[in-house]
Amino acid sequence: MMQQGQSQEILSCDVCGITYKFMSSLTRHMVTSHMNPEKLRQQAEEQRRKRENNYKRYLENRKMYETQHGTGYGKRSYRSAMSSDPDDDFA
Ligand SMILES: [Zn+2]
Repeated sequence: MMQQGQSQEILSCDVCGITYKFMSSLTRHMVTSHMNPEKLRQQAEEQRRKRENNYKRYLENRKMYETQHGTGYGKRSYRSAMSSDPDDDFA
């Protein structure tokens, strides 16, 4: 229900709720009042780090899973079915 038009449109700031009639005014307000470039950069950096941590944790979980369950699941059961060798690969 967003209508393009400058006559009746009222734009409000998400942060402090102040209203403007023009997008350009609101944009300028956002930049001058709420957008600290340094802060934005830090937030982006923090998000990137968080994502990296999640990925690292995911990799660790997967590695642990593979260690516990074996990497070659099908091959393993096939081999143990073929031979009763106790020296089966348990690496
Ligand atoms: Zn504001």
